[in-house]
Amino acid sequence: MEKDMAADCIFCKIARGEVPAKKVFEDDMVVAFHDINPAAPVHVVIVPKAHIPSVNEAGLDNAAGFGRVFAAAARIARDLGVDRKGYRIVTNTGKDAGQLVMHVHFHLMAGREFGWPPG
Ligand code: 5GP
Ligand code: ZN
Repeated sequence: MEKDMAADCIFCKIARGEVPAKKVFEDDMVVAFHDINPAAPVHVVIVPKAHIPSVNEAGLDNAAGFGRVFAAAARIARDLGVDRKGYRIVTNTGKDAGQLVMHVHFHLMAGREFGWPPG
């Protein structure tokens, strides 16, 4: 097993194809799939394949994965037809933000209006 992949991490398992997910995009560095418990009509989770627990671990050594996440987001928004009307990208970090899965991920949500500031 590659050292940057965690054996018991649900998003690593999805990235490896060991757990099924409704994928909407995949390349060598990123995978994106519909959230199992959607909070909006469109709710896609975008993850760098490298096992990075949270934004706290972001750095120059793994910056490429984060950049590719946003390239993927632009493409997914276009593909799903929400790029013009708008969408929100959210990343929860740590307990106060409600991060449940400790593999960094970006929620791309669309299809309804979102309040600001978030709750
Ligand atoms: P967090 O609260 O960590 O920011 O968000 C984790 C998200 O991952 C939640 O919206 C949750 O519904 C989603 N999620 C957790 N496990 C799975 C899974 O096995 N498959 C999919 N498709 N989504 C998942
Ligand atoms: Zn992981």
